[in-house]
Amino acid sequence: MGNTMKAALVEEFGKPLQLKEVEIPKPEAGQALVKLEVSGVCHTDVHAADGDWPIKPNLPFIPGHEGVGHVVEVGPNVTHLKEGDHVGIPWLHTSCSYCEYCVSGRENLCLSQENTGYSVNGTFAEYVLADADHATKIPQPLDSAQAAPILCAGVTTYRGLKETNTKPGDWVVISGIGGLGHLGVQYAKAMGLHVIALSRTPEKLELARQLGAEETINVTETDPGQAVQDKIGGAHGALVTAVSTQAFQQAVSTLRRGGTLSMVGLPPGEFPLSIFEMILKGIDIRGSIVGTRTDLREALQFGAEGKVKAQIETQPLDHVNTIMERLKNGDVNGRVVLSIT
Ligand code: NAD
Ligand code: ZN
Repeated sequence: MGNTMKAALVEEFGKPLQLKEVEIPKPEAGQALVKLEVSGVCHTDVHAADGDWPIKPNLPFIPGHEGVGHVVEVGPNVTHLKEGDHVGIPWLHTSCSYCEYCVSGRENLCLSQENTGYSVNGTFAEYVLADADHATKIPQPLDSAQAAPILCAGVTTYRGLKETNTKPGDWVVISGIGGLGHLGVQYAKAMGLHVIALSRTPEKLELARQLGAEETINVTETDPGQAVQDKIGGAHGALVTAVSTQAFQQAVSTLRRGGTLSMVGLPPGEFPLSIFEMILKGIDIRGSIVGTRTDLREALQFGAEGKVKAQIETQPLDHVNTIMERLKNGDVNGRVVLSIT
């Protein structure tokens, strides 16, 4: 291997990524260098590149946090990863391992965490540094392209569904049938839930039906709150993945009394809540951020067992800007996975 690698960098917020040759990083203590085969493109990468959120990445940086490849070198003190291991690099790049969140198995809430493709360089590159404690082994027989979307979209919707506190036989509304949502429908079905999918486009509603959603609602034509109340008396849980503040408001109105809203979509902004309605209906509203390493192992296992299968479109790394633009326009059905080598 030479000293440089191809990478896609954000040099300015809101501007196209720059494809450049940059230095291949060296693994330090506790780290592994991974040669990437693929990386999924998440809508979070769009938010990162646009500087959408209150906490912004430092420029320049390499986005991407659904990377899969093989370990090519390990730094000092790495005992459980070795050259050749097939691994995934998720959003949760590191956590401190000693704070109240880490010691209680909620490392996704660690205040000292680093995030791949945000606070540290990510997977839109030929190589990436992984923290050996957070790189995850890919279970057989999952291939790299199938594993990639599970590293963020999969684990986030899997954990987000757990946060709805629903049980087999319950009804869950899934709002937004993109990269996250189309996997969310499949996890929900595998978890024994009934699914109502909400989207703005007929193609995505069709995909949701193919993946097992019992009911679909086009939110541009029908008020989802009214429709879900009429159909089933309200949903037990709702998972919002849509990049739209309005979708959060709509999802609350689909819930039955005692229902739970799990928020995972991250449009910048706010949405109004009726205090009276929240209290009268005993509604529970919570945010859910990716998942823990345990959630990720479980989410990958669903994939390995064929219970969840991402609909993927493969594109070369060079096309990353077109893909980011398409995500902004809601013009990706399933997940785009960049092929890197
Ligand atoms: P995506 O672009 O693939 O999918 C988003 C979907 O929402 C699109 O299909 C779009 O058509 C749809 N949508 C937009 N407005 C809608 C509306 N009003 N009603 C219904 N659907 C609507 O994006 P993605 O990669 O699935 O990511 C979705 C969001 O989740 C992003 O904001 C991303 O940053 C966030 N995210 C959060 C976490 C977390 O840990 N909480 C993890 C990953 C991604
Ligand atoms: Zn993501």
